[in-house]
Amino acid sequence: MATYKQLVEEASKQCELVNISGQTALLYLLELCEKEHYDYYMNQNDEISCEMELSYKAGITRILNQEPMNYVLGFSWFYGYKFIVDDNVLIPRPETEELVANILADIDLYFKDYETINCVDIGTGSGAIAIALAKEETKIKMLATDISEGAIEVAKINAKNNDVNIDFLCGSMADPLVENNVKVDFLISNPPYIKQAEILDASVDNFEPHLALFGGDDGLYFYRLIFEKAKLVLNKRSIMAFEMGYDQKETILNEVKKYFGDVRAEVITDINGKDRMLFVYFV
Ligand code: SAM
Ligand code: GLN
Repeated sequence: MATYKQLVEEASKQCELVNISGQTALLYLLELCEKEHYDYYMNQNDEISCEMELSYKAGITRILNQEPMNYVLGFSWFYGYKFIVDDNVLIPRPETEELVANILADIDLYFKDYETINCVDIGTGSGAIAIALAKEETKIKMLATDISEGAIEVAKINAKNNDVNIDFLCGSMADPLVENNVKVDFLISNPPYIKQAEILDASVDNFEPHLALFGGDDGLYFYRLIFEKAKLVLNKRSIMAFEMGYDQKETILNEVKKYFGDVRAEVITDINGKDRMLFVYFV
């Protein structure tokens, strides 16, 4: 029988041999056993149960094969909430939590006196953005869309598990809103924005849905689709918020200018100092 510490140390070495951070071995154990770091350090010399050892080793084998830890676990954390994830959806990223925080700040600034704030999350994937926003601001009436029925199924389960009410529509970008005559105060999207020619890490390329990642030659294909229909789905007083690629500031601001003229548009950096969010204000 092995101790927790022995297992983690062995797995950690194996990870490092294939260029995966050794930390992953410990993080995976903590999530699998639902333990905190301090539990581990207090009990690392205890023997692990046979069942847990088998389950841990099977998971580590998948992780060594470059599969993202969150697909192995079947869940991920976003804005403090738990989301199931599978191969239908992108694993929500920490930079997207910053988009949510900035949206909440703008809701306080610009829609404080609204009784209801109508929002849409286009390309909702796991539902991360839509669900976190609806949890954090109860005045939000949230609609979430995706072109992938598989993603919508996952997002519906996540909404139920997190106990929030969200409407879902399946379709391409702003089309389902236009078809259903929906108008919103806040349009939000983290569309696929990776340039077609970009080479991704194997863990992303081999496991995450390409439908969620690639945004055409310059990565801006989906922004243009949204910009084209924006005026049809936005209330007169409204805001659009997007996640974007770190190297897209100039090109994306050019597109904003083409579609909306001299509207106020701001690119915001993420915690790593990279250009990561675009906010367009019609307020
Ligand atoms: N919103 C989630 C997040 O932030 O974690 C997922 C974002 S992922 C980068 C982009 C999402 O857009 C995927 O769920 C994908 O299925 C969806 N998508 C791709 N093409 C689409 C389209 N034409 N219309 C609507 N959604 C689309
Ligand atoms: N941030 C994601 C990645 O680097 C891409 C997300 C997106 O295309 N919207 O894998």
